[in-house]
Amino acid sequence: MRFNGKTVLITGGGSGIGAATARKFADHGAQVAIADIDMGAAEAVAATMSGKASAVQVDVTDPASVNAMVQHVVDRFGRLDCAFNNAGIGGAHKTIFELDHDEWRRTIDVNLSSVFHCLKAEAEAMRDRGGAIVNTASVSGIIATPRGTEYCAAKHGVVGLTKSAALDLISHGIRVNAVCPGATDTRLLARAMGNTVLADHLKSMIPIGRIAHPDEIANLVLFLASDEASYVVGQCIAVDGGAIVQ
Ligand code: NAD
Repeated sequence: MRFNGKTVLITGGGSGIGAATARKFADHGAQVAIADIDMGAAEAVAATMSGKASAVQVDVTDPASVNAMVQHVVDRFGRLDCAFNNAGIGGAHKTIFELDHDEWRRTIDVNLSSVFHCLKAEAEAMRDRGGAIVNTASVSGIIATPRGTEYCAAKHGVVGLTKSAALDLISHGIRVNAVCPGATDTRLLARAMGNTVLADHLKSMIPIGRIAHPDEIANLVLFLASDEASYVVGQCIAVDGGAIVQ
């Protein structure tokens, strides 16, 4: 029960990696706020957690909506100890010739600017007591993938933002780190695997010979958010079956 008495906020908690992480935090004693643009999905995950969870609707691209989400957590649970900034969308899987400006803006808004909006609101809520924040980047935040223009740019941005925010916030007792998942069995990946160029590339990149279960990403998130990681600051850690060993 590593998180007994702790309050945890998870964006994108209605599906995939976020939902798996929400369940694990609850299993370890946390009170969990499950935030998602899809309120039905967030409520469905919360309903499996016997009263220890609260669902909240958020559009992470909208700073006012993000501020309201954090306020909801503070009102409901009294404080915020840990946050997992995880909501995101897949890329368009197009070449730079094919990708249009709206597709570029949308992915940067949902996958990168959102993390800034969340970090800012969460840091305010944690300012007096400290806390732990984990962002979801990607192996695409460390290496490039073909047809990955806007997704790679956004995830490289999350890596830079994580490192910089970590240096700013550690003096307030707030640790910031990121997980960089490889291919993980979620709706997002199922949509991406529809593209055979990307699917073949992904399969050929994974030495462990399979894609990840969302629980395998959640395990690293819980470690980074826990007191066991008390000296881990500003790290962006790949969890990818050996795909990008450096
Ligand atoms: P998923 O589609 O299962 O879950 C993403 C969740 O984010 C959904 O519930 C969705 O409703 C929510 N969301 C999307 N836009 C939102 C918005 N504007 N506001 C609030 N919520 C929003 O996908 P997943 O694979 O679990 O993705 C989680 C994170 O992991 C993403 O940041 C993704 O980029 C990253 N990631 C996934 C993989 C993978 O292979 N699945 C690999 C690397 C990184």
